[in-house]
Amino acid sequence: MSFYPKKGFKLVTIVSFIVVLSIVLTMIITIHSAYTTSKESLVENYLNNNYDRATDLAASTGNLLDRVQGSIDAVAEIWQRNHGLDDETLNDLYLTNREYFNSLSIIRKDLIVDETAPASNKLHSGSSVDNPTSRAVTNMRDSVITDPFVGTTGNLMILVTSPLYDQNNVYYGYVAGTIYLHQSNILQLILEHEYELDGSYVYAVDSKGNIIFHPNQALIGKNVASNDAVWKVIAGLNGSMLYTDSSDSSYYAGYAYNMKSGWGIISQTPASVVNGPLGILLRQSILQSLPLLLITLAAGWLLTYLVVKPLHQLAAYSDRMLKDWNTGEFPDIQSATYEIKTLHNSLRFTSFQLQKYIAKLHNETALDGLTGLANRRNFDSTLDTWCMGEEPFAMIMLDIDHFKRVNDTYGHLTGDRVMQSLASMMRNVSREGDLCFRYGGEEFGILLRGCNITRAYVVAERLRQLSASTTSPSGEIVTISMGIVVYPDQGRTPVELISKADQALYTSKREGRNRTTVYADELVSTS
Ligand code: GH3
Ligand code: MG
Ligand code: MG
Repeated sequence: MSFYPKKGFKLVTIVSFIVVLSIVLTMIITIHSAYTTSKESLVENYLNNNYDRATDLAASTGNLLDRVQGSIDAVAEIWQRNHGLDDETLNDLYLTNREYFNSLSIIRKDLIVDETAPASNKLHSGSSVDNPTSRAVTNMRDSVITDPFVGTTGNLMILVTSPLYDQNNVYYGYVAGTIYLHQSNILQLILEHEYELDGSYVYAVDSKGNIIFHPNQALIGKNVASNDAVWKVIAGLNGSMLYTDSSDSSYYAGYAYNMKSGWGIISQTPASVVNGPLGILLRQSILQSLPLLLITLAAGWLLTYLVVKPLHQLAAYSDRMLKDWNTGEFPDIQSATYEIKTLHNSLRFTSFQLQKYIAKLHNETALDGLTGLANRRNFDSTLDTWCMGEEPFAMIMLDIDHFKRVNDTYGHLTGDRVMQSLASMMRNVSREGDLCFRYGGEEFGILLRGCNITRAYVVAERLRQLSASTTSPSGEIVTISMGIVVYPDQGRTPVELISKADQALYTSKREGRNRTTVYADELVSTS
């Protein structure tokens, strides 16, 4: 692992992401639940409406069948009262009942047509209507509403019959009113107008699940007993449900059973009808909540930013600290969050301690441990820097006279204190901006910024006289010898300057010590 690992995602990014995600999810859940509730109430509405309609129509169909049966019974009565009917009377009766029946026929028990109205070229007096339904009707000798069947005329029909008895009360046959399911008929009258714009419609099935009325004529006669709603209704149940037919179309259906006929009425609406209003509702909900969503998102982001910003500042500060010790100002952080405040304080404390430690280290590498003056390294680098500039400066180099003797006589510790005392005198004579340094051993110096030879000489003499007039920690006077050189007049490089200052210093030594020598082409020394 590297010392400076990958940075990773910013907290503000992660928290913003979580905030945005939760806001968006909340919106989605809210809209979804509004959508679901609306859908449920729409669906319930369709189911209830269809159920009500199916129940109403089943009741109307029951009443209608009563009336239809009543009319046929009335024809049978007239037949019995008149001991038969002539063609004209039957035709009149047909015309009277034409809204109920497509035709009227008197059928004998041997299934031969006595007479029929209106006149037809397919069915006339003497025709046979021998088919299972007719046979069943004659066997039952009762008022019957038959299931649909294809009659002799080729029409899919239902018979409404009433038995006929002659004056001796012997069964003669029956009078039958036909309802042709594929032609205009009485069922259409009450069921057909229910076809609606939203695709809702009504159909009717007989007791076996055969369609006896449907707005789509092509389906009349088809057996649909396998449809969920149909088998329930022909089992005698009333209710409503969502079901899918054999062609995979789904419907909200209400179904109602008519006990008298065994027929079922199914009123249904295509399930797709809810998609339109729900789509509009969904669009509206999204559009309406969009401004709120944007405001909430902005507020959420701002809040996140404000909460996380102090942490980000701290992290950025630590980041700078890792890259560079010079971290600059510690960030001013305002936060009411406990964790951030604690982190802030501890980082500030750590940073403060670190700065202090670094400063101490810096001093240790820059200062001489014994005298507190700049050390040799510090002096070298300062001299290098000053030599690169144009500003003039002077350099005083000095060496303590007969220092070996001080050490030998009073010991090294006293010798050290003598050097410390000299250092303090050097500080006293120099100005801010000058650099007092220990060159090595008991050799010292001063770099005097912006200083000409005259002032350098004055400073050196003040120092020399000060040491020559002060009792040192050894209890004796300790004198010093000095050499002065100026930049740039007498040298431009450190080596040149140090060497010339040394030459001046040793001239001072040679000429008797306790004196100052200014380096010149010919060296001048004073005491
Ligand atoms: P001169 O007048 O010619 O300079 O004579 P001197 O005795 O001072 O001779 P020199 O400059 O060669 O003496 C250097 C002495 O300084 C040697 C050493 O004992 C002493 N010295 C160097 N560094 C220290 C130090 O840190 N502490 C002490 N007490 N003495 C030191
Ligand atoms: Mg020396
Ligand atoms: Mg010396």
